[in-house]
Amino acid sequence: MASTTLQGLPASPGIAVGRCWTVDRRRLRTPRRKVTEQEVETELDRLDVAIDLSVQQLDGVRAKFQASDGAEHLAIIDVHRAMLRDPSLVDEVRRLVRVERVNVEWAVKRAVRKIKGAFDADDEFFRERRSDVDYVGERIVKNLMGQGSDAAEMPPPGSIVVARDLSPADTALFFHDRRVAALVTDAGGVTSHTAIVARALEIPAVVGTGKASTSAERGDWLVVDGSHGLVVLNPSAAERAEYEAARVRQMEREAELTRLKDLPAETVDGVRLRMVGNIEFGEEVPGLLSHGGEGVGLYRTEFLFMGRSELPTEEDHYRDYRALLDAMGGRPVTVRTFDLGGDKLPSGQKDHSENPALGLRAVRYCLRHPDLFYAQLRAAVRAAAHGNLRIMFPMVSGVAEVRAAKWALAEAFEQVVAQGLPARMPPVGVMVELPSAAVVADRIAREVDFLSIGTNDLIQYAIGVDRQNMDVAYLYRPLHLAVLRMLKSVAEAARAAGISVSMCGEMAGEPLYTLVLLGLGLDELSMNGPSIPEVKRVIRGASAREGRELLDRILDLNTADDIEREVRAEMARRFPGLLEGGARVGPVSG
Ligand code: PEP
Ligand code: MG
Repeated sequence: MASTTLQGLPASPGIAVGRCWTVDRRRLRTPRRKVTEQEVETELDRLDVAIDLSVQQLDGVRAKFQASDGAEHLAIIDVHRAMLRDPSLVDEVRRLVRVERVNVEWAVKRAVRKIKGAFDADDEFFRERRSDVDYVGERIVKNLMGQGSDAAEMPPPGSIVVARDLSPADTALFFHDRRVAALVTDAGGVTSHTAIVARALEIPAVVGTGKASTSAERGDWLVVDGSHGLVVLNPSAAERAEYEAARVRQMEREAELTRLKDLPAETVDGVRLRMVGNIEFGEEVPGLLSHGGEGVGLYRTEFLFMGRSELPTEEDHYRDYRALLDAMGGRPVTVRTFDLGGDKLPSGQKDHSENPALGLRAVRYCLRHPDLFYAQLRAAVRAAAHGNLRIMFPMVSGVAEVRAAKWALAEAFEQVVAQGLPARMPPVGVMVELPSAAVVADRIAREVDFLSIGTNDLIQYAIGVDRQNMDVAYLYRPLHLAVLRMLKSVAEAARAAGISVSMCGEMAGEPLYTLVLLGLGLDELSMNGPSIPEVKRVIRGASAREGRELLDRILDLNTADDIEREVRAEMARRFPGLLEGGARVGPVSG
């Protein structure tokens, strides 16, 4: 049989070759009937029993993992456990049974639909939250129907699990003891929980394939290339051997890179950079530390809105930041205030403006919603009293917004002090991700303790390319001369003001650019944990002087193509093998 290749989304890097293990996760058919007045209480009792059972089942999954290593990612299961008792779900189900006299299975289905309606379906972030509500509703309904057991057959070790979709509990179960070699789903995006769990456990995964679960059968050979989002169905023996060899090469390379973990990111001429991580969830911390992360350079706190129907409270933030600071064991943690707005909004809210990316986003949104902003700021100054927390404001357009945000922080600090709670004013930084901020970075630098360049947005706004629009992806060029000039002037502005400058966009984690970034004189690079060793290897094998020379050369060129050709040639010469697979930084979604 000839092989076929499916293109999905690269959710977790790495290569796997193994036999397919399909998992049947078809939707349930929910029974619907009217109940009499006398039956109402019985129905409500059934609901309580089903919820208790569901909680016990999730506890069971959790307990299995606590006994083993790698239990960190189970926070997602806790979110589901909390959702099982969330009043917005339970009260609505009770209301439907009492008022509309429908059976409890149907009431759960209706309540789930209503909650999901509050999440914006056009946004990947909220689409994933909708599937959380689905998982929870489905578990309750299965228990009501006596089908809730998790005693699913376990895949044999080394299998590649293929499913339409998987709940985090399923994912966690299958990955127990790392018996699964890879994961493929039809649904899901790169921020789906399945993808996050797979990344946290470093298991290759491809999501969003559309039809893998109906195309592959149990026992078929499969190849999964999680770095490129490819799934090869029924590979030939030669293809299997080729991928197997690539897998072995990759593992050898990783083992070699891991040896760099505890060595400093220092150039041969003695310039030391700090290698830190970008994270969305606390459970990414072990992976970050295992790759040698020296801190968190960007904590995307808006992900705290995930899986909730209500806004997180000051206490929620506080507990979250403290847990993160503890997990990082005294290393610095840069908390970015919410980058909400545009298409990332709390549930139930929607931005109808024509250009959400140019609308009420990030610090603008926060300044317009002081309740939400101050709750976060108070939590941050409280947590700062207990650890090495830094705070950073996203999307500032100039000095006025920096001052407004700092003013809010100072007020939040006063409020906490007035309450008699321990507080510390943390170092304050801003993201330079708007061209306006880049151009006036010299003035902004006088107002803050550090700058962090967000190239994902800076490139989008500087070149006028929507970072999620594949039609204009060819214009999304980190090495555009305009971008390089901005990076240079921001770095110089920080140096002149005597403050540190970091880069936290995806560009920081792409080794192709490392020599150029050395030339800029950045102090810190913030990236996904797994990118750290390779970037560090380049830093340790290069000198800052070479970086400056390369930068000078490319600043004399005109087009992104010419510049990229020059950089590639230099990197290929200096670091043979580095560019296998090509540069990864294309348009990225935020
Ligand atoms: C950036 O814009 O470069 C950045 C790091 O922020 P985000 O990707 O969260 O927008
Ligand atoms: Mg950004």
